[in-house]
Amino acid sequence: MSKGTCKAPSCDKEVQAKGYCSRHYSKWRKGNMPKPRYKTCNAENCRKPQERRSLCSEHYAKEYGKKTETVAAASTAAS
Ligand SMILES: [Zn+2]
Ligand SMILES: [Zn+2]
Repeated sequence: MSKGTCKAPSCDKEVQAKGYCSRHYSKWRKGNMPKPRYKTCNAENCRKPQERRSLCSEHYAKEYGKKTETVAAASTAAS
C-alpha cells in the first residue's frame, strides 16, 4: 500500500509525489529542493527524465505517440 518514504534527508513521511512527502513536494515544486540532474516526467509518480513536453519518452508516447502517428499517416495518405 505504501509508496515508500520521502527521499528528502531525514524525512520518513509517506511519499505523496515525485518521491517526496506532501510537504517536501510542495517545496520541491517551488524550487526549494535540490533538483535531480535532469527534469523528471510530469506524470504522477514517474521519475524518468523528461524527453518531450515535460514527459518521459514512455508517457510522451502514451500522450502523443498515437496522435503523432495518426497525423503522420494522414498527411502521408493525403499527399
Ligand atoms: Zn518529506
Ligand atoms: Zn513518465
